Amino acid sequence: MNTSIELPATNDPSAEPREEPRAGEAEFLAVFEQSAVGMVQVSAKTGRFVRVNAKYCELTGYVAEELAGMTPAELTHADDRDADAGAFGSLLRGEVLFYDVEKRYVRKDGGIIRARENATLLRDADGRAVGSMAVIQDITARKQAEEMLHTTETRYRRLFEAAKDGILILDGQTGRITDANPYILEALGLTRAETLGRELWEIGVFADATASRAAMTELQERGYVRYGDLPLESKAGERREVEVVANVYQEGGHRVIQCNIRDITERKRAEQELRLLNRAIAASDAGVFLVDPYLPDFPVVFASEGFERMTGYTAAEALGRNCRFLQGSKTDAAAVDRLREAVHAHRPIRLTLLNYRKDGTPFWSDVAVSPVTGPEGRVTHLVGIQNDVSAQYELQASLQASMDRLALGVKVAGFAIAEVDYATGLNHLTAGAARAFGLGETSMEVTRATVHATFHPDDREELSRRIADSLDPAGPGLFAMDHRVVWPGGEVRWLTVRKQVFFTDDGPSRRPHRGVLAVLDVTDRKQAEARLQQLAADLSEAGRRKDEFLATLAHELRNPLAPIRTGLEVMRMSPAGDPAVVKAREMMERQLGHMVRLVDDLMDASRINSGKVELKREKLLIRTVVDHAVEASRSLIEAGGHAFTITVADEPAWVDGDLTRLAQVVSNLLNNAAKYTPNGGRITLLARVEGDKVVIEVADTGTGISADMLPEVFDMFAQVDRTLGRAQGGLGIGLSLVKTILEMHGGTITATSPGLGLGSNFAARLPLAATDRLPEPATASANETPAPRPAGRRVLVVDDNVDGAESLAMLLGLSGHEARAVHDGPAALAAALDVAPEIVFLDIGLPGMSGYDVAKRFRADATLAGAVLVALTGWGSEDDRRKSKEAGFDHHLTKPVNFEQVQALLCGL
Ligand code: ADP
Repeated sequence: MNTSIELPATNDPSAEPREEPRAGEAEFLAVFEQSAVGMVQVSAKTGRFVRVNAKYCELTGYVAEELAGMTPAELTHADDRDADAGAFGSLLRGEVLFYDVEKRYVRKDGGIIRARENATLLRDADGRAVGSMAVIQDITARKQAEEMLHTTETRYRRLFEAAKDGILILDGQTGRITDANPYILEALGLTRAETLGRELWEIGVFADATASRAAMTELQERGYVRYGDLPLESKAGERREVEVVANVYQEGGHRVIQCNIRDITERKRAEQELRLLNRAIAASDAGVFLVDPYLPDFPVVFASEGFERMTGYTAAEALGRNCRFLQGSKTDAAAVDRLREAVHAHRPIRLTLLNYRKDGTPFWSDVAVSPVTGPEGRVTHLVGIQNDVSAQYELQASLQASMDRLALGVKVAGFAIAEVDYATGLNHLTAGAARAFGLGETSMEVTRATVHATFHPDDREELSRRIADSLDPAGPGLFAMDHRVVWPGGEVRWLTVRKQVFFTDDGPSRRPHRGVLAVLDVTDRKQAEARLQQLAADLSEAGRRKDEFLATLAHELRNPLAPIRTGLEVMRMSPAGDPAVVKAREMMERQLGHMVRLVDDLMDASRINSGKVELKREKLLIRTVVDHAVEASRSLIEAGGHAFTITVADEPAWVDGDLTRLAQVVSNLLNNAAKYTPNGGRITLLARVEGDKVVIEVADTGTGISADMLPEVFDMFAQVDRTLGRAQGGLGIGLSLVKTILEMHGGTITATSPGLGLGSNFAARLPLAATDRLPEPATASANETPAPRPAGRRVLVVDDNVDGAESLAMLLGLSGHEARAVHDGPAALAAALDVAPEIVFLDIGLPGMSGYDVAKRFRADATLAGAVLVALTGWGSEDDRRKSKEAGFDHHLTKPVNFEQVQALLCGL
C-alpha cells in the first residue's frame, strides 16, 4: 500500500510546487509517517492535502493517492463542515495559532468515525501562512464509551427518579444524605432541601440519633444492613412500615451509602389479612376446601379445620383425593352428576347432598362450589364451602311431610287451601279458596288487604283481634274461626277458616313467615244449624210451657180435692149409717188417695223438671226410709193381696238424704210392683250394703218388662203398655221421678226383668254417708204415741173455694172447735175482729186481696197479732214457704190438707 508520505503532484496547474524537505526534515517525516495518530498537512493556498500519513489513510479508509487533491472538508461530516472550515479559516488568518476540535469523518466506506483534531499553522521563512499541520486522533471508541456511560447514568437516574422504592444516597464518612429520590421525599413529605445534608434519624427513619448512628456503625463494619420493619413517620405524622436495605460502596475513592427504603405497609396489611382469613376459615363451622381443576381427577389441595371437624377426615387424608370419598350408597347419583358437570365446566353450583363421615355416619351437606380466578382472570382453583344442614333438612322434610298430610286431610275434608306470605303480604289462593272468598274462579295471588276487604263488617273486629293473636310470635300461631264474607253481589256467606302460622327461627327476631290457611264454605250448614237452633228453642219453650201447664193443672186439681177430702172426713165422723154408704165412702177415700198421689206426682214432675226441688238432707238410717215407704204403700200392696217380705240388713246403713223424697222413691217402686203384679203375687224388698253403696231392691212376680222397653221405663211419660196400666191409673211419671231424685242424691236406679210375665227387679243405689258423727237412731215408740185430741179452739177458715172453706169449717166443728168460713180477705179481717180466732187457715190465692196481704194486716193489728196463721195453698215449694213466712204465716200446708196435720197444729196451740 502506498504510504502517505509526500503526496504526488496533481495536474492542477494551481498546485503549489512541492517544497523539498529541508535539513532535519527527514526525521520529521519519519515521525510523521510512523505516528500512531493520523497526521495531515494541508495547503493554505489550495486547501488540499499536501501530506497524509499511513494512520490517517487507515482512519479514513482511503489510500494516499486518493486523498491527493481532496480537501479535508470532503472527508468531514456535513454537520461539522462549517465549524471545521471556521476553525481552519481562523488559523490561516492568524487569528489563532492552533485549534483543537472534535469532528466526525466520513470514511470511504461511509462509516463515521469521531476524531479529535489538533491543527497548527505552518509558515514559510517569511512568516507567511502556507498551511496547517494537523494531528487526528480516532476517539470513536472513547466517545462511544462516554456516550454509553451517559446513557447508563441517565437510565439509572431515571430509575432513581421513578423508583417506587425510596432511595437515599449518604456520604459514607459523615452519614449525611447527599441525594434522595422523589419517592422517598414524597413519602416523608419533605423537600430536597429539607432532606439533603441531614442524617437518617433527622428525617424520621430511625427513632433518634443513637439508633441511627448505631446502624451506621454496623453498616460501616459489615458493608450491608437490612431492617425488616422500621416505623417511618412522615412530616405530617403519617406512619408507615418500611424495610430498609443499606449498602456501602466505593465511588471514586469515596465511600457512599445507598439506602433502599421500601414501603411495606400494604404488604404487612395483606399479610395480616391473610393470617386473619386463615384463622377465620379455621374457626368456621363450614368446611372449606380447594380443588385443583388442572390436575387429573380434580384433587383436593386444601381442606380447612371445619372440613376436618365435619367429615372426620384429616386434611392430610383428604389432600390429593377427589371429593367423592365423602359420597356413599344413598347419595343421589343425579345430584352428583350435576355437581361433576358444573365442576368440569368451572361453573358455580350449589346443592344439598347426602355425605358420609369417616365413621360412616351420613349427614346432609349443603355445598357451594365456585371457581377461584387469578389476577389475569383465569380460573386457578375451585373452592367448595359445605355446611352440615342435617337438622334443617330433616326438619324441612318432616315439615313437608306434615304439610303433605295436612294438605291431604284438608282436601279430604273438602277444605280449600290458601297460603299467606307475610314477607310480601301476598296471599296465594287456590281456585277453591278464591271461590270461597268470592274473589274469582281461578287460583290467584292477591294482597292480604284484598282478602280482608271481603270480611263481613260485623265480623271484622273479632277477625282483626284473632288474626293479630295468631301472628303473635309468642303464641302457637293458630287461627280458627267461623266468620262471614260478603261476595261481590252482596251475598253473605259463612266460612270456616283454620290457619297455622309458621314463624322464622326462634329468638328475638322471631316473626311470622308463612301461613297455611284452610277454608270451607259452611253457609248451608250454618243455615241448617240456625233452623235447628230455632227448633230447639221452640221445643224448649214448648217444654217450659208444658211444665208450667202441669204445675197449674196439679195446683188447680188440688183445690177441688181439698173439700172432697174434708167432706169424706166429715162423713167418716158422722154417725155410721147405711153400710153401702160406708163402702162407697171407703171406695171414695181410696180413689181420692190415688188421685192425690197422681196430682202430687204431676206437681213433682213439673217442679223437678224446672229444677225447683230442693232436698232437705239429713243423716238417715236406710231402715227409716224403708219404714216410711212401706207405710205409704202398704194399703196398695195389701189391696192386691200380695205376699210382701221386707229384709233390711242388720248393720245400720246411713245415707245423707231427704227422707220424704227417698221414701217417695221406694214407695213408688213398691206401688209399681203392686200395680204391675196380678193379684196374689209376691213382692220383696231387700235393703243391704254393697261396698260404699246402699242397695234397695224391689222385686215382684208381675208382668215383667220386655228387653226393648227396659231402657225406656225411666223416661218421663213412658209406659210399657197403656192398656195394661190404665186399671192402675199411672201417668208414666213415677220412674222418671225415682231416677231424678236418686240422681239428686248421687244415686242410680237399674231395672231388670227376665221377660214378660216373669217379674221385674228394680235396684236403687245410694252412696253410704260418712259414718262419723251420726245421730242416735230415733226410737220409733215416740212417733207412735197417739196424738192427743185438742181442746175446742176458735178457728177461722178463709178460702175462695167455698166448698173447701165450708167443708173444713164443718169438719172442725165436728171435731169440737168453733170454726167459721169466709171467702175473701176483707171478710176475713172483719170476721177476725168479730171472733178473735186463735188460729186462721188462710188460702193464699184469694181474689183481690191475696193471702199474703191479709196475713200482713193480721200482723199489723194489735188485737189480731196473737192468732196463729196457717197458709193453705196448692203451692208447696221452698220458695212458696219462704214467701208465706215473710208475710207473717206461722205454718204452711199444701192442699189437699190431711186432717191429721190440721189436728196436730190445733194440738200444738
Ligand atoms: P206409671 O205411672 O205408668 O206407673 P212409672 O214411671 O212408674 O209410670 O212406670 C213406667 C212404666 O214402667 C209403667 O207404665 C209400666 O209399664 C212399667 N213398670 C214400672 N214398674 C213395673 C213393674 N214393677 N213391673 C212391670 N212393669 C213396670
